[in-house]
Amino acid sequence: MAVPQNRKTSSKRNMRRSHDALVADNPNECPNCGELRRPHHVCGACGHYAGREVVVATEVDLDSEAA
Ligand SMILES: [Zn+2]
Repeated sequence: MAVPQNRKTSSKRNMRRSHDALVADNPNECPNCGELRRPHHVCGACGHYAGREVVVATEVDLDSEAA
């Protein structure tokens, strides 16, 4: 395996890492419920996308399901 002959300086290391920072999400408000959601994603709170409901929330009753 190839091994680097010389150690990179801390300056070169830091220059390389100058592009490594994580960028924060850019959430915007859901037009239906006002909750913050990621752009181009279904709203996690109400299941709406592009003005209509695409994920229908169903309530699961665990007690009656087991019986
Ligand atoms: Zn919503």
